Amino acid sequence: MKMLETMYKTMIARLKQFDASQEVIDDYTTHWNDAMKNPGKPIPCPDCFRKGNKDSRLEPLPRNGNTENVKCKSCKEYFSYEEPAI
Ligand SMILES: [Zn+2]
Repeated sequence: MKMLETMYKTMIARLKQFDASQEVIDDYTTHWNDAMKNPGKPIPCPDCFRKGNKDSRLEPLPRNGNTENVKCKSCKEYFSYEEPAI
């Protein structure tokens, strides 16, 4: 669960980095929560989401030590985030 929290924070930080509005961030959060409840639903890419494509999908890549990597199926952007130290 910790890793998912970190992933979520990473994606929100990415939205903020590109000046996404609060509305977009809230909408992203809704999609995120949906994906958490329904394993079949994709976790959307923050870059695509910001540009209005809400049907993108982040796909997991092989883990590299404490770092998890995902790649957007639509825009091919990579995102990585590190397992938080306990
Ligand atoms: Zn994307």
